This record gives sequence, structure tokens and C-alpha cells, in this order.
Amino acid sequence: MSTKVVKFGGSSLADASHFKQVADIIKADPARRFVVPSAPGKRFPADEKVTDMLYRIYEMIRNRESSSAVDDYYRKIVDRYMSIIEGLGLQFDISGELNYIKTCLYSASGRDYAASRGEYLNGLILAKYLGFDFIDAEYVIFFKDNGTFDEEKTQEILGQELKIHKNAVIPGFYGVMPNGTIKTFSRGGSDITGSIVARAAGAALYENWTDVSGFMMADPRIVHDKTPIKTITYRELRELSYMGATVLHEESIFPVRNAGIPINIRNTNMPDDPGTMIVAQADSYDSKHIITGVAGKKGFSVINIEKDMMNSEVGFTRRLLDVLEDNDMSFEHLPSGIDTISIILSTAALHEKREKLLSAIERRVKPDSISTEDGLALVAVVGRGMVKAKGTAARVFDALARAGVNIRMLDQGSSELNIIIGIEEHDFEPAMKAIYDEFVN
Ligand code: ASP
Repeated sequence: MSTKVVKFGGSSLADASHFKQVADIIKADPARRFVVPSAPGKRFPADEKVTDMLYRIYEMIRNRESSSAVDDYYRKIVDRYMSIIEGLGLQFDISGELNYIKTCLYSASGRDYAASRGEYLNGLILAKYLGFDFIDAEYVIFFKDNGTFDEEKTQEILGQELKIHKNAVIPGFYGVMPNGTIKTFSRGGSDITGSIVARAAGAALYENWTDVSGFMMADPRIVHDKTPIKTITYRELRELSYMGATVLHEESIFPVRNAGIPINIRNTNMPDDPGTMIVAQADSYDSKHIITGVAGKKGFSVINIEKDMMNSEVGFTRRLLDVLEDNDMSFEHLPSGIDTISIILSTAALHEKREKLLSAIERRVKPDSISTEDGLALVAVVGRGMVKAKGTAARVFDALARAGVNIRMLDQGSSELNIIIGIEEHDFEPAMKAIYDEFVN
């Protein structure tokens, strides 16, 4: 039987009724052998995520707030778990665990340890409820001394461990450092754990269950999009998530991508929806829409550099990029003309280094002129179908012209997987809508 690894996000495990839905989903398919839970998320908009509560209690203890204040707040966390256990009708006493965790919080076990307990406790409860084994991530997910994920060691030890369990729950988000302390991935990191477990289990599929029916073709806050993407390649996904389309943690695609395991984004509240399938290669594309999606971000600046005969000056770009490197800065795009080159980078990154950077560029490449402009937004139109369908760029430009949007910068990757357009920030929403309407509506 082929194995599926299923990861459930915090909103899918926020309370007992969600736990029940999750159990139904897992039990509906015996291939769903390994389960990776997040910590309980928000039950209603003003609610607190357990992970946020744990960060907060860590700060309270560090700031030496009174023990009664800490106790009161800790009780709220305890109550979240107790109401899940009671709501499930489970006979499960976790008071010993909760007391031990509190003692550890007082004994400098660290911020990551505090945060990780959200997943740990949720994993214990879920394993008990499902009747699955519990594998503590502390013993199977490893980090290196420099804090990066230790892929080799994890693959070996986790792979061996999974072989001896028919079914198991492995809490997401954390692992262990070589010195034995707990370390977490960055926020939303249970997605990464799910991917790592899928790889180590040699799974046929990694199902990532959340509260939306997949990736939407555009940000629903801007275009009221109701069209989930059926199939998207890892490369397209990278482009869209880099531009701000978030459903899945960016780093979670690497372990499964390398192993050729597809990811299926699914909706816990609508389990019959097929969701979005993320695959390594797709031969076909959605011929109705041509594009796979459109995403974008505000907050970019451009450094414009002009110099006569730049095109024949050997080493010009290298010297320019050296300046960025010396200042520890990365850039997003580098569109160039014959005697001009522009560096597009995040305004936040440029902010404190602006003067220093500009004078270093002056000294190093002696331009005829140099200027900066802020307030740029980037929009990426992404789609593997663009390479085959003629006239896609024309349709994008036409739609933008009709919406009165002025294009400031253009960049079409050589893969023809995307067209990146730089526009003014105030044009961002109209531009997104115009492109969406052109291709989807
Ligand atoms: N609970 C962690 C967070 O809120 C990790 C996760 O949910 O993936 O970031």
C-alpha cells in the first residue's frame, strides 16, 4: 500500500470538533499512515494561537513578571488543551506533562522550546485520539550546529524509525540541535516537518490540510478569487509564493520536490474538494486560463544607473554587484538597457544603507548619473502555458493599458514561466484586477 503523509494546520486542530473532522479524514484512507499536526490555531478571529501564547509566556517569565500573572496566563494554555481532551471524551491525563513544561519554562530551556510545546502537546493528544504511535520530533528531526536542518541525519534516523510504525503522529515545527536543545523552524514550519516526514517515509503523496481549498489564482483579498489552481508545478509555486501568495511555507517544497513527491493542498472543512496538486512536472496546462496565477508585492525601490558606453565596459556589472555584496544586500531584479542598468530591491533593505550604498556605487563604477525611486510594486504573471500560448504578454499589457496602469519595469524570465511587471504602488490593486479579469473572468 502506498503511504500518504498528512499534515494538519493550526486552524484544522483548533478545537475538539476540528479534531473529530481530522480523525474522520485520516480514518477514511488507510494510506494516511503518518500525521504531522500544528499547534491549535485560532477558533475565531480575535482568538490567540497557542504558539503565540507560548511565545508570550516565555517573555513573561524572562521579564520576571509576577508568578501569579504567569500562572494565570499559563492556565489559559492549559484550558485550550483541556477543552480539546474533554470535547473528545478522552481519558487522558496530561497534567504531569503540563507541570513539567512549566518547570522547564522557568529553567531557561529557551524560546524555541517554549514554542515547540504547542505541537508536542497537540501531537500527544492526537496520537491518543487516533490510537496511533507518537514519535517525538526531538528524536528524529535534526539540526546542525549552524542552525540549518540536517537533512542527511534526519533522513536516515527518521526513515528507520518510520519503518517500525504502522501509524504514527510526529509533531511539526521542531527538532533538536546537536547539543540537545530544542530548535524550531521559522513560523509556519510544520509544513516543513510534513515534507521531511513524507520524504523519509518514501510517501506517494504529501497531503497538506488547511482551511482553504488550495492555492487561488490571485489574492482573494484583492480579486474575490474563487478559482483554486488545480495543478501547479514546484517552479510556478516558487514564483507565486515569492511574490506573496502564501498557503504553504516556502521551504517546505524542497524535501519533497527532490524526491518527486507531489503535495496536495486540501481543505479540512471541505474534504471533498480536490484542492491544489503541486507536482514536479506537468505536461498540460489549463488552456482555458493560460496563466496559472498572478501574485505581487509592494515595497520595492529602484536604483537607476546611467553611464555612456556602459555596454562595452568590461566588468561593469560585476563591480556594481560587488558593492551590493560588500554591503550584504541582495537584489530582486536587474533590468538593463544599453547605457542604463536598474537594481530593484526591497525598500526595507535599502532603507538604512541608502547613502552608504549610493556613494560606494559612485566610487566603484563612476556613473554619469544615479538616482533612486521608492514606491514600486512588482506583479508576477506565472504560468507554464505561457511558453506555448502566443500573445500572452500582449494580453497582459493590453489589460494594464485599459486599466490606465503605467508599466515601469518589465522582466520576462528566459524560461517564459513568468512575466514580472514593475508598477507604481498605487496601481497595484487595479493591475492585479485587470490581469485577473483578462485571463480568468
Ligand atoms: N505553530 C507554529 C506557528 O504558528 C508552526 C505551524 O503552525 O506550522 O508558526
